[in-house]
Amino acid sequence: MSFKSEIDKRRTFGIISHPDAGKTTLTEKLLLFGGAIQEAGAVKSNKIKKGATSDFMEIERQRGISVATSVLAFLYKDKKINILDTPGHKDFAEDTFRTLTAVDSVIVVIDVAKGVEEQTEKLVEVCRMRNIPMIVFINKLDREGKDAFDLLDEVEQKLGLSVTPLSFPIGMGYDFKGIYNIYERNLNLFKGSSKKKVEEVMAFEDLDNPELEQLIGSDAANALRENLELVEGVYPPFDREAYLAGTQQPVFFGSALNNFGVRELLDCFVEIAPPPRPKKAEERLVEPSEKEMTGFVFKIHANMDPKHRDRLAFVKIVSGTFQRNKPYLHVRLDKQLKFSSPNAFFAEKKEIVDESYPGDIVGLHDTGNFKIGDTLTEGEALHYKGIPSFSPEHFRYINNADPMKSKQLAKGIDQLMDEGVAQLFTLEMNGRKIIGTVGALQYEVIQYRLEHEYGAKCTYENFPVHKACWVEAADPDSESYQEFLRVKQKYLARDKRGQLVFLADSAFSLQMTQQKYPDVKLHFTSEFE
Ligand code: GDP
Repeated sequence: MSFKSEIDKRRTFGIISHPDAGKTTLTEKLLLFGGAIQEAGAVKSNKIKKGATSDFMEIERQRGISVATSVLAFLYKDKKINILDTPGHKDFAEDTFRTLTAVDSVIVVIDVAKGVEEQTEKLVEVCRMRNIPMIVFINKLDREGKDAFDLLDEVEQKLGLSVTPLSFPIGMGYDFKGIYNIYERNLNLFKGSSKKKVEEVMAFEDLDNPELEQLIGSDAANALRENLELVEGVYPPFDREAYLAGTQQPVFFGSALNNFGVRELLDCFVEIAPPPRPKKAEERLVEPSEKEMTGFVFKIHANMDPKHRDRLAFVKIVSGTFQRNKPYLHVRLDKQLKFSSPNAFFAEKKEIVDESYPGDIVGLHDTGNFKIGDTLTEGEALHYKGIPSFSPEHFRYINNADPMKSKQLAKGIDQLMDEGVAQLFTLEMNGRKIIGTVGALQYEVIQYRLEHEYGAKCTYENFPVHKACWVEAADPDSESYQEFLRVKQKYLARDKRGQLVFLADSAFSLQMTQQKYPDVKLHFTSEFE
């Protein structure tokens, strides 16, 4: 197969949702359609199995939170689908943000009863900022929920999207009768008695056909006709270009648990979703069809195999063909690296591959060379953009609780920060280390992992910070900048990359500092131009 058709074949996407909306269930049903798994329950049970063999995963299991981001791939209608799993729990939101730098499109799952929830809002905002094409799947139609039109309004208002329904439900909850597929113009009926089976789909071009009454009853038939008329009147027709540009979002309805409406979603997805997209590097825009291999690390996973203490760096291939045993330039370290056993992911398994193409994710065994955001090339000094750090929400001093193990502690902290588990700040004044996290849960994870993976013990101490701001000086030699450095010395720290950070202890002090030193620019993310 030609290089070009390999690229065209790939669809790399993420599913985002608030926890419990049905992301795992939908993922599993998609894998079933792709023949990648044989039975329902496989995706979940896989997680638990991992939990039994790895101490870290045990935390995950106990807490019932999906901490790990993994890759699931399958073939469907000649397309190679790569699903990048994203943790829904808010404490791991940064993980999800980073994964979103590696997807070419997303599916947003919304619970019909709960509507748009907090995590969905945050994640969709990130996708919107990056113009990532999105398809919305409204799930759990077998339950009582909000009126379809109200929900579409809510999606538009709360998420700032411009939707167009490509399917429409017939009733819901107890009265859920099925779905009319606007995209394919056919009817898919839900039989309450055989919920687990996927029903035959009926072509139904002409809605005026009285057969509709016989199938779903006259009330439902009339309601459907009215609703579809309303849809046509209110929403613009589907426009693929607008979808690809991130300015229109098609919506599907269904029930992942009952495998209903999922095939429609998947069939439409493989038709409309984008193949690998060009990606911006600091230096230039890189096209997937370029011959030279480039890619970037968006995720580092520790101790997948507890017998080998190495880590797996997840690299998204942006351009060219990634080959086993070929030397690549690790741009940040300015070092050539070869990989003898790059992993590809298929269904829930990983296996060694010789070649990977744009859109694919390869897992590289790493003994500590990689950090999140690192770029690999065939020699060009490229730096992929788009993995900024945000201000953490929580800050604590980290102290060594076992003086005999200070080396292990330093190494552990270093590696956990490379993985992006949390952010480390070192105070300018006295070199004390501060860990910043999005959620309080990470402190436990870090403590646990330091102990079990590095044999080091730590304690924490509160450090009241309102926000971390990255400092940019209009003129580093100016008097006012020098004064800022002197006066705020106590609150200045370096992040892992050595960038200067101001740790404001309150909203008030942040505001005062901004007023007093107008030529010191304070940024809320680590990437600014
Ligand atoms: P996640 O946290 O988003 O991954 O959500 P899960 O896929 O784990 O689903 C959360 C719960 O909702 C589970 O108990 C599922 O069985 C249930 N669920 C998922 N899809 C449906 C659906 O279509 N209908 C109903 N009634 N329940 C569903």
